[in-house]
Amino acid sequence: MELRERILRLALENAVEHGGKALLDPVLRRVAGEFPDLRQRLRELVPLVEEILSEINLLSPEEQRKRLEELGGRAVREKRERRKGLPDLPNVEKYERVVTRFAPNPNGPLHLGHVRAALLSYEYARMYGGKFILRFEDTNPANAKEEMYGMIKEDLEWLGIRWDEEFYQSDRLELYYRMAERLLEEGKAYVCSCKAEEFREKRDRGLPCPCRELPPQEQLERWRGMKEGGYGEEEAVLRLKTDLKHPNPAVRDWPAFRVVEAPHPRVGRKYRVWPLYNFSVSIDDHEMGITHVIRGKEHEVNEERQRFLFRLLGWEYPTVVQYGRLTLAGSKLSKTEIVRAVEKGELKGYDDVRLGTLSALRRRGFLPESVRRVILEVGLTPVDSSLSWESLEAQNRKLVDDLALRYFFVPSGVWVRVRNAPELREVELPLHPSHPERGKRRLPLLYREGCLLVLLSPEDLRNLKEGEVFRLKDLMNVSLLSLSPPEAEFRGLELLPGIPKVQWVSGDPVKVKVLKPDGTVEEGWGEPALRGVKVGEILQFERYGFVRVEETGKEISVVFGHR
Ligand SMILES: [Zn+2]
Repeated sequence: MELRERILRLALENAVEHGGKALLDPVLRRVAGEFPDLRQRLRELVPLVEEILSEINLLSPEEQRKRLEELGGRAVREKRERRKGLPDLPNVEKYERVVTRFAPNPNGPLHLGHVRAALLSYEYARMYGGKFILRFEDTNPANAKEEMYGMIKEDLEWLGIRWDEEFYQSDRLELYYRMAERLLEEGKAYVCSCKAEEFREKRDRGLPCPCRELPPQEQLERWRGMKEGGYGEEEAVLRLKTDLKHPNPAVRDWPAFRVVEAPHPRVGRKYRVWPLYNFSVSIDDHEMGITHVIRGKEHEVNEERQRFLFRLLGWEYPTVVQYGRLTLAGSKLSKTEIVRAVEKGELKGYDDVRLGTLSALRRRGFLPESVRRVILEVGLTPVDSSLSWESLEAQNRKLVDDLALRYFFVPSGVWVRVRNAPELREVELPLHPSHPERGKRRLPLLYREGCLLVLLSPEDLRNLKEGEVFRLKDLMNVSLLSLSPPEAEFRGLELLPGIPKVQWVSGDPVKVKVLKPDGTVEEGWGEPALRGVKVGEILQFERYGFVRVEETGKEISVVFGHR
């Protein structure tokens, strides 16, 4: 098959899978995966792939599918593959089209637990050719954060999630107000001005408060009072009439609106009455035609509350698909704790490497595909599960091992004189041991007064005994003469089995700072070829670990990912 045609097919597959838009990196990854003969030419293929993308991204999804079929593509197989981890959705035949949503509160950064809701809802919408909606649930002016809207979108895009529609609840207050007024007029809701503890005391005994039975006219007046400033914060709430005998007191006449004086990051002080979570969720799920709500079981009680509102309004509740809680072991901070720590300056930002946020994972060189795979592997399991860093790292290692170019890095660095070494000038090593086609790097050798000078890590030196023969990796064997002053002696070039190997750097070293996952910085020296790396590149420092480049220049800063 023609080169262009082969790439075109993969690009179309990518487009069909992702709602009509193919992206450069995923297509290149797929080209590398499918056609080993093209791997070494990826870089020169970029213009061709870009040209193909600009062509197919203009096509309608139907045209894309048609052309893919003509080329013998396999969008169908992809579909089945993705289904493997995900069971079929119930009730699909009941609806004309599956519609799902991801509805984050922009009050903190996304971590893996949230990603699961987003990814599953997105994947299901795709699986059934449905619609996926992104909805910001920002009806608490006191905790919505302006910078989070963009950050959340960036995180989702990084994961390859695309949405068909985007909503902000803070734009929809008039709709919520209309619904509130309808409920008040119909005697299905009331404005309660009782003190919270007085209301609670009655509610817990299954008794109505005095506000409950006031006539609709009076309720509407009280409601206007809430909106116009007659009631301050905590002086009145709008409650739904649910069931005062409901076994769970938290479901009895739950609050739907309250007064919040704080300005909202998007709409300022335009409103002072704000719907509470369960109210706006319900109205929107209905109005947006959500057919399937895919959610964690911690929302069970909320669902019970919401079902009352649906019943009061005569609406049908969407189909719920429930999964267990997913935590990332060892990263216990909640959204609000993270926000607090960032604001206090205890954390350096939402992408602080000590966190399990998506932006922190991204900084450390975790690929979106690794995150997707581990989450989809857990799938819809109803039991609570904990994801270990080890499994995330193992998944990522599988993917980056093939991509990451290899370099030598020596933590700290102690100059060691090697006597009687042959004058070699430099050594050439492959950038990747399994991909000679990716080229070579040169490590120049520095000589002074007839001795070769190499930087070694103090830790490696400490592990050696005086007189012990070891190998300067890919260079030569030497024996340690003394630790202070650090001196060694040449002992041959032939690879000897069973002797320790150590990383080294000699001429023209580059200073490297490594930010570790515990927030500390380890300094050391890297080989001069590191001057050619780019920001964002993922590298492997041999015998040290995978790192992602964050800053280049005279010094190089990298973030440690994992071993
Ligand atoms: Zn009351």
